[in-house]
Amino acid sequence: MSNGFETLAIHAGQEPDPVTGAVVPPIYATSTYKQDGVGGLRSGYEYSRSANPTRTALETALAAVEGGARGLAFASGLAAEDTLLRTVCKPQDHVIIPGDAYGGTYRLFAKVHERWGLHYDPVPLHDLDAVAAAMTQKTRLIWVETPTNPLLGIADIAGLAQLAHDAGALLVVDNTFASPYLQQPLALGADVVVHSTTKYVGGHSDVVGGALVAAASDLGEELAYHQNAMGAVAGPFDAWLTLRGLKTLGVRMDRHCDNAERVVDLLLAHPRVTDVLYPGLPEHPGHEVAAKQMKRFGGMVSFRVDGGEAAAVEVCDKAELFTLGESLGGVESLIEHPGRMTHASVAGSKLEVPADLVRLSVGIETVDDLLADLTRALG
Ligand SMILES: *Cc1c(COP(=O)(O)O)cnc(C)c1O
Repeated sequence: MSNGFETLAIHAGQEPDPVTGAVVPPIYATSTYKQDGVGGLRSGYEYSRSANPTRTALETALAAVEGGARGLAFASGLAAEDTLLRTVCKPQDHVIIPGDAYGGTYRLFAKVHERWGLHYDPVPLHDLDAVAAAMTQKTRLIWVETPTNPLLGIADIAGLAQLAHDAGALLVVDNTFASPYLQQPLALGADVVVHSTTKYVGGHSDVVGGALVAAASDLGEELAYHQNAMGAVAGPFDAWLTLRGLKTLGVRMDRHCDNAERVVDLLLAHPRVTDVLYPGLPEHPGHEVAAKQMKRFGGMVSFRVDGGEAAAVEVCDKAELFTLGESLGGVESLIEHPGRMTHASVAGSKLEVPADLVRLSVGIETVDDLLADLTRALG
């Protein structure tokens, strides 16, 4: 019998310490390990870039909650992405990326990997025909975000997995926005899941980290080889904090969703709000697909305000409990203006976002306080 999500998050890879009985995996602040004779490694530990027990605990738990064969923890989400690209792609390969990809992911393709001969095309992933038309002989990956940032578009993971596999390509899903509690891409056919664990998995805005989870153990082995060869690993303190966050992911996500639903109701009724973007709304173009592949619809909400950029910026400035800041997925609510903040790097490109857009990361504070703050900020 397999355990449920919360049980895995709390126990997978986290057996009590055999020496002391410590219930929580200790922070192994060590770079190297005493060998019992030359080559006599204890439990396989040799040097902490290759493996560290605190990181192993996190990696085991991440693999368990995503239902994958192998989990790997990195210094940041972008370090995880870079490691994946350099493991599975070679010069002249082609990658399909979301039409509104996370800005840092877009920058990694456009400013770093393009120079090394990796080609990419941004495509609206909700449109399977457009994706099929953009595939070439050289397409190695379809890179998916769903929901997307900041427009909360939805892509059909199972449909895209089919397209990728028919063409001999891999399907990668950046599962940062949904979290493994709400969405299980590997079960829908994805080959690799990417996370910025900085966001919901860590959940407390106190650590930067990233992860890869591979469905198959052979790809997991190749990724682990490159993780060690390239070296962008999560340190033991960061791994410990991230694992601490992961334990409560399920209860936090349910509260994020509860609060987001109330915020959406308020925004829908507000005369200054011209559009609310949330996949939980029946009128959202991706609602049916989201309902099929997500348990609930998450804590991210975007909306457009009457009055253009100036009005959107004013709402961001006036909010108090919603803290003006980048990032997302922490217990505290955040507000931001994507056009001038997180997505400034895509201004002028095909990925530019509307100037009157405001993005909320709805936290788990008392919901009435959040509603009062938004009402005041909207004036
Ligand atoms: C933040 C984020 C990343 C990058 O992760 P870092 O931990 O900041 O390097 C990648 N994808 C998405 C969807 C993100 O929100």
